[in-house]
Amino acid sequence: MRWTPGQGYLWKPAPQADGYSTLDRDLECDVAILGTGPGGAAAARTLADLGLRVVLLEEGPPEERFRPNQGAVMRYHMQEGGGMVATGRALMPIAAGRGVGGGTLINSAIAWRCPDTVLDSWSDLLGDMRYSAANMRPVYDWLWEYLGIWDTLPAVAGENSELVIRGAKVAGYPGGYLARYTPRCVGCGTCYYGCPTGGKASTNHNFLAEAATNGARIQADTVVEDFLYTGDRVVGLVGRMKHPDTREPGGKVTVRAAKVIVAAGGIGTPRFLAGTRLDLGPAVGVGLHTHPGNAVFGVCKHEVNWWKGATQGAYFHVPGLPGVLPHTSSLPPEVALLSLAGQGVAAPEAMKLLPHLAGLLVMISDHSSGTVGRWPDGRAKLQYDFSDEDVARIKAGMVASAEVLLAGGAEWLFCPVAGVGRVDTAAALEAGLADRTIRDFTLYASHPMSTCRMGHDPVTSVIRPDGRSHRYEGLYLSDSSIFPTSLGVNPSVTTMAMATLIAAGVARAG
Ligand SMILES: Cc1cc2nc3c(=O)[nH]c(=O)nc-3n(C[C@H](O)[C@H](O)[C@H](O)COP(=O)(O)OP(=O)(O)OC[C@H]3O[C@@H](n4cnc5c(N)ncnc54)[C@H](O)[C@@H]3O)c2cc1C
Ligand code: SF4
Repeated sequence: MRWTPGQGYLWKPAPQADGYSTLDRDLECDVAILGTGPGGAAAARTLADLGLRVVLLEEGPPEERFRPNQGAVMRYHMQEGGGMVATGRALMPIAAGRGVGGGTLINSAIAWRCPDTVLDSWSDLLGDMRYSAANMRPVYDWLWEYLGIWDTLPAVAGENSELVIRGAKVAGYPGGYLARYTPRCVGCGTCYYGCPTGGKASTNHNFLAEAATNGARIQADTVVEDFLYTGDRVVGLVGRMKHPDTREPGGKVTVRAAKVIVAAGGIGTPRFLAGTRLDLGPAVGVGLHTHPGNAVFGVCKHEVNWWKGATQGAYFHVPGLPGVLPHTSSLPPEVALLSLAGQGVAAPEAMKLLPHLAGLLVMISDHSSGTVGRWPDGRAKLQYDFSDEDVARIKAGMVASAEVLLAGGAEWLFCPVAGVGRVDTAAALEAGLADRTIRDFTLYASHPMSTCRMGHDPVTSVIRPDGRSHRYEGLYLSDSSIFPTSLGVNPSVTTMAMATLIAAGVARAG
């Protein structure tokens, strides 16, 4: 369904959230929700709309703390200060957002519907039709309208995206402008730092604002540490406030609730569950997928100025490479300079090259998987094992990206893979990558998921298809940790859709 840009979406100023205090806080409600990203926020909106009293708890600060620099976003708006790294055959940083809005505060807001084939495979796997392509279609249609999703407009796309669209056409690959939930975007290219114009439909400007209008309360600056429970029934959450700047511990927060929804994210949920007194079974933290990938950079004769324009505005795909999705990605200038330094480019030359850089990020639907545990100090213990097949798919996506960048106007290419160096044809990149192992790659992932899967077997899943815990009454999960498999497309809108359905079920359950 297509919506006329500028019409039909909900956008409100971010709601006021409570922040740090040295005093304890005791709250009572019908449903307590841990996390304010797509999973927690969409659930809160549905429940508050239906008249339930909702309290959301969030570790990050109550208001957006955006500054145009990497250090500030890591400190305030990335989980674990942006320092989460999975170990295994290679080191892989995994990014996740933090704050009232969760990952949507710092993501690129790319919107995809989960492919029908994936949804229908879930129906088969779950023996349950609730997330079938046919049942999800109206929910996606509604989200497209509610969030103001439409294809990136040429007026804000920027040259990096235009170059990829041109190149994909010449190379004969299908592609185009990416759909995004950015109804008021002016194309400033700083989505990873947060949106300075309110152009992005992050969850604080829609779901959370609407939930707050209907009485929901948001308690930020609060790290949730454990459940309250009686026998096998969960009856609330407890946490501790932390000062957003100094991280000094503050008052204790206790929320008593008839029901609890955990939506702390693909890493946050198993990390939290591993630290509580309740045992939700052997499937907690198992089966981590991340949509890992790598980048290819092109150096053009003409100026690209990739920091101008939508952060990620275009994509293409190669019909023979299912589950491989290259899309544009602009880097902030200081991060781009670091990439060039990694290639041995000295600062004066790097400054000259900077305006001429273009870039594509290759993301794959991973068959590889990993685990999420918890170190004694509370950080996530992450492990991830790459299969040879997935490494080959990343390489193939990079070679196709090289073709597209060159066809779009790049003169030569480089990529953050040790030992490859500068190349000026796709064939040369392919040859350069051929004997490289995953250890040589500078990897990136920001879609942790599937770590507390839904299913029927309590040994291989944590919740039932309706979101309820196998083991405890009154406990639900509604975030990206619940996907039965990797999605293959950016996951936030599917998380919102599934959380909406789960929350409707929570309300119906009385
Ligand atoms: C840089 C970046 C770019 C991305 N780009 C896109 C994109 O363009 N399109 C897309 O679809 N997806 C994108 N993603 C992924 C997407 O944002 C996530 O998949 C999505 O936000 C996950 O939603 P969630 O509700 O599962 O968890 P999150 O959004 O991670 O929300 C979980 C919240 O819980 C809080 N929390 C965690 N533990 C605790 C605790 N113990 N106590 C209190 N609070 C806690 C966290 O602070 C966080 O706010 C991107 C992610 C990043 C980081
Ligand atoms: S490109 Fe700029 S204006 Fe557009 S959504 Fe991203 S941060 Fe906001």
